[in-house]
Amino acid sequence: MDKLEYAIRQIRNCDFCNGTGNLYWSVGEDFDSEVCPCNPYELILDGDEVIWDNGLLSEPQLLASMEAN
Ligand SMILES: [Zn+2]
Repeated sequence: MDKLEYAIRQIRNCDFCNGTGNLYWSVGEDFDSEVCPCNPYELILDGDEVIWDNGLLSEPQLLASMEAN
């Protein structure tokens, strides 16, 4: 299992953020979000697709893992 897969699995198995990797809340008209502790790479997921990460998952490794599939 590669780093990204592992990171996504951690998020999916998290009850705290319901598998989203991010915590959202609203107070009155204020809306805010915070990265969940299960999500060290600050991934934002759209379905199974990663639409954002904080760069700690380096690009060469991402490309390598795509080629491996
Ligand atoms: Zn979480």
